[in-house]
Amino acid sequence: MPRKCLLGLPAILGNASPPPPSVTATRIIPVVDARAVPTGRTVAPARDADLAVLPWHDRLQRPLRDLRISVTDRCNFRCVYCMPKDVFDADHVYLPHGDLLSFEEIARVARIFVDAGVEKIRLTGGEPLLRRHIERLVEMLAKLPVDLTLTTNGALLARKAQALRDAGLARVTVSLDALDDPTFRRMNDVDFPVQDVLDGIDAAAAAGLAPIKVNAVIRRGWNEHAVTQMAGYFRHSGHVVRFIEYMDVGATNGWRMDDVVPAREMIAAIDAQWPLEPVAAHYEGEVAQRWRYRDGAGEVGVIASVTQAFCRDCTRARLSTDGKLYTCLFATSGHDLRGPLRAGADDAALRAAIGSLWLARDDRYSEVRTAATARAPKVEMSYIGG
Ligand code: SAM
Ligand code: SF4
Ligand code: SF4
Repeated sequence: MPRKCLLGLPAILGNASPPPPSVTATRIIPVVDARAVPTGRTVAPARDADLAVLPWHDRLQRPLRDLRISVTDRCNFRCVYCMPKDVFDADHVYLPHGDLLSFEEIARVARIFVDAGVEKIRLTGGEPLLRRHIERLVEMLAKLPVDLTLTTNGALLARKAQALRDAGLARVTVSLDALDDPTFRRMNDVDFPVQDVLDGIDAAAAAGLAPIKVNAVIRRGWNEHAVTQMAGYFRHSGHVVRFIEYMDVGATNGWRMDDVVPAREMIAAIDAQWPLEPVAAHYEGEVAQRWRYRDGAGEVGVIASVTQAFCRDCTRARLSTDGKLYTCLFATSGHDLRGPLRAGADDAALRAAIGSLWLARDDRYSEVRTAATARAPKVEMSYIGG
């Protein structure tokens, strides 16, 4: 039977003019433009013989191993580095409910990915715990032979941790950018108290969603002091804090290279107080560099996505809230899977579409990042999934 090509649409790139240097200078909402882009560049269907070899390897010989699924583009925080309030304000138009992939659609696509060799699925967003009955989706995905995790800002975690665990979630990653209330409230920009997130972490641990990873984005001039404070707080806890370099994702956060605190600087600050030694990666493609305290107090990590790009090991695909497939966090456009899904494409056709995209992939944005690329139009992280 001839394979259906689902990817033949021409490339259309959105917003041609660069965003302004300051998000407060001009009110634009580039995310709307990015979502309106119907598909990425045209990809020729791969040969059946190439699709039969699993896992699929892209043009830079990277296997498809991870899938991140954004279940909502909404969030109850307005983190200054992700959804700045003056862009994501009361007038911002989110995806209408009918545009979202249903749980059944997500589970079907996820199964096709797992059949093709994906070993890890992460639910994300936006804030995934805002998606109604998210535990039902967890229950559906937990049936797949895959490591299932979820990234959350923790605001609703105290309430939801047990239900998520009961539904089959294995672990959670909680984002937390400071331990002192004034800094945390400034970073989330909705005046959310840090104690509620700490309670969420405790609830997750009590429910068995451990070991918990705690992710902190560090931005120069905002929260560098959180590095040693958080390292100290989570020593001996069994939870692993990972400090993330602030990235130029999306087009709304006004990123500048000067805002980035290099991972080596963060590690030096921790090492000066509590000596560290490096630990080997758990697996090929692990994004965090691991370090352990020489006194046995546990581990910390850094994600040096800007100063030490790790594109050559990038095994991740992302499924946006409305069913577009992105092969890089910094893409300008995705490839529509929802259209074919709703038009009745069978599993073989969907599999061929996904495989053709992966085999054609050559993304390596972080390795070629410059000040100019940082200003290029890109999809927002809250929509594509962090
Ligand atoms: N709302 C959830 C949360 O915050 O955990 C999940 C989605 S969020 C987009 C996923 C991760 O992306 C979070 O850990 C967040 O800190 C990180 N993130 C968002 N914007 C970032 C940026 N500009 N640079 C680095 N990390 C960023
Ligand atoms: Fe929301 Fe997460 Fe983005 Fe913060 S980082 S605004 S919590 S999606
Ligand atoms: Fe992967 Fe793109 Fe990030 Fe490189 S820039 S690590 S290819 S998501």
